[in-house]
Amino acid sequence: LLGNSGDEQGVAVHAVGGFVRDLLLDLPNLDLDITIEGDGIFFAETFGEQHGCRVRPHQAFGTAVVVFPDGRKLDVASTRLEYYDSPGVLPTVERASLRHDLYRRDFTINTLALCLNHDRFGVLLDFFGGQKDLQDKTVRVLHNLSFVEDPTRAFRAIRFEQRLSFQLDPHTEGLLRSAVRAGLVERVGGKRLMGELIQILKEQEPTLAVKRMAQLGLLPCIHTGLRFGPDSEQLFAELERVLAWYQLLYLETPLEPWTVWFLALMDRLDSPQYLEVCQRLMMPERLMERIFGHRHKALKRLQHLRQALGRGQEISNSQLYTLLHGMPLELLLYGLARSGQDELRRLVSHYLTRLAEVKSLVSGTELQDLGVPRGPAIRTMKERLLSARLDGLIASKDEELELARQ
Ligand code: ATP
Repeated sequence: LLGNSGDEQGVAVHAVGGFVRDLLLDLPNLDLDITIEGDGIFFAETFGEQHGCRVRPHQAFGTAVVVFPDGRKLDVASTRLEYYDSPGVLPTVERASLRHDLYRRDFTINTLALCLNHDRFGVLLDFFGGQKDLQDKTVRVLHNLSFVEDPTRAFRAIRFEQRLSFQLDPHTEGLLRSAVRAGLVERVGGKRLMGELIQILKEQEPTLAVKRMAQLGLLPCIHTGLRFGPDSEQLFAELERVLAWYQLLYLETPLEPWTVWFLALMDRLDSPQYLEVCQRLMMPERLMERIFGHRHKALKRLQHLRQALGRGQEISNSQLYTLLHGMPLELLLYGLARSGQDELRRLVSHYLTRLAEVKSLVSGTELQDLGVPRGPAIRTMKERLLSARLDGLIASKDEELELARQ
């Protein structure tokens, strides 16, 4: 379809970047990026109209996002238009323009382009030796100033290297280390740094990439107190087990695993340092409040539970509920990984699968009808009824009402 639209409009259309890389590696990738040798926004809008897609243009960048009715997205970019002034020699001009565009990319493996127009469909353009680097499993920058131009590429290099089980080309690794030594990476702005870190923590196996970040000296660029020592290694391994265990519970509570990895990465920082990291990364207030702001309290509660278990104390359902209710799931999982105690995991599993969703069945209005005064008394009564329910003392709504009457 895209190639046909390109033919109709007389512009060359190429699939570029990660999609082509993954296609050649036989890896799944549904994020299609295309480059239009011409006006990408015009192309996207015409294509969108023809195929019932929404289009979000970004005039300043000459790019557009096409959103298909089923929610899939397509990123459309334009190559530079100034190369487009000699129609007579179109093919060479097109190529020169596309080449120039691809030269701005991060690594050779991301510079491959696949033509989608009808008469050249499937022709692979490889200006910078990307195919050979894919074969040799090498991540290589395009030129010596690549990390100077954009130091976030240091994180991207590690992400691709570890995800694909590639190796940084030795010269590229040298350039990366120089950029770190020159303090370029620690000057990356908070938002961009956070974006790269999130992408790393969203990888299938973030442990490998974090270890590599430590090895190449990138962790102190985030905060000088960050390390990845044997204790971190143990915590990360434990967290991997906890997340796998959590998946097997098949609960519907939404979870962003990267936040749990983030907590583990920041584990050795004390509270003021923790705040410094959040500020450095310009972490959104909402996220900071919801998850990271409760770290201390949550860990204390889990510690309390652990100690009680250590003393052989019986924990009732209502006690467990009171301790764990309202605790962000991410903190719960991080706390579990930290404690490494199977008995605690059993209790938390019991809470998540059996108790977390239990509610008292009588309403506030029904309690008022029974004479409970409005305000905090209603809440206290509901909590009492819920505790009785959790501990199996009552089961039906009638029994709740009966208990409330007493
Ligand atoms: P993923 O599979 O993780 O989505 P991707 O290759 O699609 O990987 P994106 O981060 O979505 O990566 O970026 C899309 C393309 O844009 C990349 O293939 C890369 O060539 C280019 N790109 C992204 N960030 C940079 C950067 N900082 N410098 C140069 N090129 C970049």
